[in-house]
Amino acid sequence: MKELKVQDSDERIEVKKFFCLGSNYYLHIEEMQSKKPAEPVIFTKPATAMIADGDTIVIPPASKKVHHEVELAIIIGREGKNIAKENAFDYIFGYAVGMDITLRDIQSTAKKEGRPWAIAKGFDTAAPMSAVIPKEKVENPEDLPLKLSVNSEVRQQGNTKDMIFKIGEIIAYISQFFTLEKGDVIMTGTPAGVGEIKPGDKVKAEIKGLLSVECAVE
Ligand code: MG
Repeated sequence: MKELKVQDSDERIEVKKFFCLGSNYYLHIEEMQSKKPAEPVIFTKPATAMIADGDTIVIPPASKKVHHEVELAIIIGREGKNIAKENAFDYIFGYAVGMDITLRDIQSTAKKEGRPWAIAKGFDTAAPMSAVIPKEKVENPEDLPLKLSVNSEVRQQGNTKDMIFKIGEIIAYISQFFTLEKGDVIMTGTPAGVGEIKPGDKVKAEIKGLLSVECAVE
């Protein structure tokens, strides 16, 4: 069982499943030479992909090119289906900062051949997550600075205000197809600056002054 810590509390939230958005920031779409999607691009990771601050990202031997992506994570607090975008925030417990670790070589082959991304995005340790901060303590989740450093060198800097699909729309869209449950995590996409990580690196994702998660790479 995978659990998220709630910041400054003994509470833990059991993780159920991850939904992730692809192509949700223009500059990242440009760097990937992708197209702006008409609808949110959704993929999933199993709960077993999660690791926490201080854990190790283990690169599967089958991949030779692994990328970091820093993302705002929404943590769902109660069950819902067909949620209206106006009510979406009622279903949120809080927020975290996480990484969507990607086996880019395996994903590129999958894209070319029209195969699923399950391995490239859902392998063990593909989802390092910070603690969770309850929503009441976040003034505006759509204006948060995201930063990722590798060995203390800044690689990604962005702001959640640049998300193409906003939090309400994302929850409304996903819940048309999937029942959202307490402990589901929605990763909202990465800003520009994705790049490679290698064994021996230390990768840190943060929302300055609020949340962070740091993992070594093996
Ligand atoms: Mg991502």
